[in-house]
Amino acid sequence: MHKIDIFDTTLRDGEQSAGINLNTQEKLEIARQLEKYGVSIIEAGFPASSPGDFEAVKLIADTVKNSVVTGLARTNKDDIETAWEALKGGVQPHLHTFIATSPIHMQTKLNKTPEQVIELAVESVKLARKYFPLVQWSAEDATRSDKDFLVRIINEVIKAGATTINVPDTVGYATPIEYGALFKYLTENVNGIERVKLSAHCHDDLGLATANTLAAIENGATQVEGTINGIGERAGNVALEEIAVALHIRKDYYQTDSGIVLKETKRTSQLVSKLTGVAIQPNKAVVGKNAFAHESGIHQDGMLKNPETYEIITPELIGDASTELVLGKHSGRHAFTNRAEEMGFHLSDEKLKAAFVAFKKLADSKKEITEDDLFVLLTDQQVNTPEVDVYELESVQVQYGTSNIPTATVQAKTPSGQVEVVSSTGAGSVEAIFNTLEKLVNGEVHIIDYRVSSVSKGRDALGEAIINLTFNDVVSVGRNASQDVLEASAKAYLNAINRQLIKAHYQERVPVTQ
Ligand SMILES: [Zn+2]
Repeated sequence: MHKIDIFDTTLRDGEQSAGINLNTQEKLEIARQLEKYGVSIIEAGFPASSPGDFEAVKLIADTVKNSVVTGLARTNKDDIETAWEALKGGVQPHLHTFIATSPIHMQTKLNKTPEQVIELAVESVKLARKYFPLVQWSAEDATRSDKDFLVRIINEVIKAGATTINVPDTVGYATPIEYGALFKYLTENVNGIERVKLSAHCHDDLGLATANTLAAIENGATQVEGTINGIGERAGNVALEEIAVALHIRKDYYQTDSGIVLKETKRTSQLVSKLTGVAIQPNKAVVGKNAFAHESGIHQDGMLKNPETYEIITPELIGDASTELVLGKHSGRHAFTNRAEEMGFHLSDEKLKAAFVAFKKLADSKKEITEDDLFVLLTDQQVNTPEVDVYELESVQVQYGTSNIPTATVQAKTPSGQVEVVSSTGAGSVEAIFNTLEKLVNGEVHIIDYRVSSVSKGRDALGEAIINLTFNDVVSVGRNASQDVLEASAKAYLNAINRQLIKAHYQERVPVTQ
């Protein structure tokens, strides 16, 4: 068995995809879960890209202890030094720097000759090594680069001190056999390749990311990069949970160990989906809602006789055991606190108190509180940023009848502390609420996407609303889970607006290092 390092880039490559906009608390929460999940390296962001990213990377580097934390930097001095300021508190400071190596990128994007690109790469790695003990260098668009040029530039960056070489399929162009062959070629031709880690990074434009990543592992890769649920630019990155489960189920074939704590899979996947607002398709491998559902009679019959007839992965393996009743109306503060700790939440007394109040309120109207419900309540408190003044919904009232015009009235506290009452109409109840809220927030709002789903089963299940909108042309995701979907929709809308206020607050506060 040899070790494969899992490098998670949910917070960098994943977060930079369209419509995702995580705040610092949410990023930290995801990083903590990734640490629990057992990833070797967490790419927390791109520190020089914005003060918000800088702050999040720094907080994560200062907090996470069991995973290496890294950040992205271009080849320039400012990027590398800003990254050092953000990452120096980490247990093993690690930098990820890159430059494009394909003819099309070198000519059109960089406007540089191959020799100039080698020079820049070497300089950046040398500079990075002055600060960082671990430096990963990536050949952007490697799969469309000349492979002998790749060998030359990699030889030089290893000499300059790079400790990991990443060979990304940036545009999702490679096929498994080609990508595997490239890894084999590099292992056979690069000087000193055995002294560094060799990393794969695949995108799913042709639906080949998982196959390509596994092909790289078969041909010498010792690290693989990807995201939870496969989120990322365009068609996304490789889904790390698929790689981890494939290496586990077929360890007879791959003979590798990823160090991933598989029973944290479901929780990690749900957290990322919830906080990013990116839904998981029902038939998604490993974490989809239907990944373990057997509908056909022949399958069900076989399953009853012996589950192994049709089931190669068990729900237990990925921590998806059936959610039984955990707490009820009469559960006290102590039982609630214990349960929260068992679930891995570490909340301050104040946040725990607020979560308990929300729990009691829910228990009044919902008979059984499941682990899924608690997860929603506790996560909401965990990522709550109470020190920023935001909009708070006090009440929403909707008048709806099939033959009259739906009208909504909202009472809410504004960031200035005043309570306002506004009302408006719409073609339907939800539209009436959204029109009313647009008056309240006093800006231009466009709804891009809006979804409502249930958190757990049963007619009294919590309804969760997720909304993607633009507020004064800035994209934002909002979400809320409440007993009633109209209330959840109103709160999700304000949540999306509030996230922009919180982000602006952090950007004012954080000193920019460059
Ligand atoms: Zn990428």
